[in-house]
Amino acid sequence: MSHLTSVCVYCGSSNNGPTSHREAANALGKMMAERGIGLVYGGGRAGVMGAVADSVLSAGGKVTGIIPDFLMRHEVGHMNITELEVVDTMHARKARMAELSDAFLILPGGLGTLEEYFEIVTWRQLGLHDKPIAVLNTDGYWDRLRDTVNGIVEANYARPESAAMTSYVGTAEQALDTLERQISGSEHLSSEML
Ligand code: AMP
Repeated sequence: MSHLTSVCVYCGSSNNGPTSHREAANALGKMMAERGIGLVYGGGRAGVMGAVADSVLSAGGKVTGIIPDFLMRHEVGHMNITELEVVDTMHARKARMAELSDAFLILPGGLGTLEEYFEIVTWRQLGLHDKPIAVLNTDGYWDRLRDTVNGIVEANYARPESAAMTSYVGTAEQALDTLERQISGSEHLSSEML
């Protein structure tokens, strides 16, 4: 039986979004630490990213940040996390974040967050990984993303299975429950196939 030990969280680097988004990040971080799930993220100190990292740390959890050298100043690297890996490029950052994580969770964010989401879901569509993906849809922020993807399926540019690869959830608890269930489910499937 497989366990969820680390989750990669993609989310906004800005502090200017709605307060409810940072509150959702705080609730998530606390719950991750309580469940012994490590955070893997982009290594920044600000915005929703900083909120989730600070909250995992203050609840006694483990945080691994991966940041490219050139962004250390721009996004302000978080110096107090458990491990901060400085890499050369954005591509190296994303590859390393994916490698270190059992599952992916998208919180509210901007264009960078969307880019990271689309890369991980299209990698799964191509069969490059089979790790669970969930969207924490705080206040319906990502409703338009879901509508866009459903429209793509309606136009037959993607299969319904591709849309179904992402679970939309409303709370941190549902997010971690969903990812944990999918991790143990995939282990069950693969051992049945042996
Ligand atoms: P944002 O949602 O725009 O605040 O960005 C969230 C995170 O995604 C930040 O850490 C950005 O550095 C990162 N990001 C932005 N664009 C890219 C990209 N093309 N590849 C990887 N990460 C990115």
